[in-house]
Amino acid sequence: MAGMLYLVPTPIGNLGDISIRCKQTLEEADFIAAEDTRVTLKLLNHLGIKKSLVSYFEHNKAQKGNVILDRILAGETCALVSDAGSPAISDPGEELVKQCAEAGVTVCAIPGPCAVITALSISGQNTGRFCFEGFLSTAKKSRREHLESLLKEQRTMIFYEAPHKLVATLEDMATVFGADRPISLCRELTKLHEEVVRTTLGEALEKYTAQAPKGEFVLVVAGAAPEEKTAATPADAATRVAQLMEAGLSRKDAIKQTAIELDLPKNVVYESALKI
Ligand code: SAM
Repeated sequence: MAGMLYLVPTPIGNLGDISIRCKQTLEEADFIAAEDTRVTLKLLNHLGIKKSLVSYFEHNKAQKGNVILDRILAGETCALVSDAGSPAISDPGEELVKQCAEAGVTVCAIPGPCAVITALSISGQNTGRFCFEGFLSTAKKSRREHLESLLKEQRTMIFYEAPHKLVATLEDMATVFGADRPISLCRELTKLHEEVVRTTLGEALEKYTAQAPKGEFVLVVAGAAPEEKTAATPADAATRVAQLMEAGLSRKDAIKQTAIELDLPKNVVYESALKI
């Protein structure tokens, strides 16, 4: 019988955040696949666990994924960990989960530390609807294109960012979204120097230009305000009815459709159409 793949989240800064279930899973797995075996070894030593480790990271995942999958198919249970946080979220694991799913292997994700969710919860921004955008590209052109594609995004947007790229990213965000757009910069979460700076893009840019940013950051940016619809006028209705009739609709259908499109009462559209 095939084994299983467990996705085991690890602390993003506070070792106390490892759960009982994660510890048990690491103890019981046949082997652990780790992003950086040295980092994971420290965690295992802290937990008093001795276990065979294989490395699985960005640049060996194509070849190592097959080796891991073969071992699981042969009946072994693998626990996958990354350096910190939830595997497969901006971390190696996405491909392995796809491979396992395709091969019919059971994948079990244990809930636990994840920088996106920790940052969103503490951000003070709207949490009802959000989108996770991961890391922006280091190349200015594609970074700008990525941000421009989010110009009308109304959901709260979450980005991972490295400190040395923060100022360039804030510059681009302020240009694309406007300097007044609210942002929460969540830094060193769960660590000794945890800090949440709730401000605007313009002010954040000033702050971190004056004082070099340090530590790990998650950026939580407010979504765009809903576009205000300007009410349509009878003249707009007349123009639209004429366009639709030219396109082949009968007067009656053109009036009906215009009333729906422009959110106007049918009699108003009818009156306007009489003037055509
Ligand atoms: N898979 C991980 C997770 O779900 O939390 C994320 C891994 S990603 C390679 C690393 C990025 O996560 C960092 O560059 C930073 O943006 C964010 N991050 C991780 N730990 C953090 C922390 N303690 N405080 C703030 N951001 C953190």
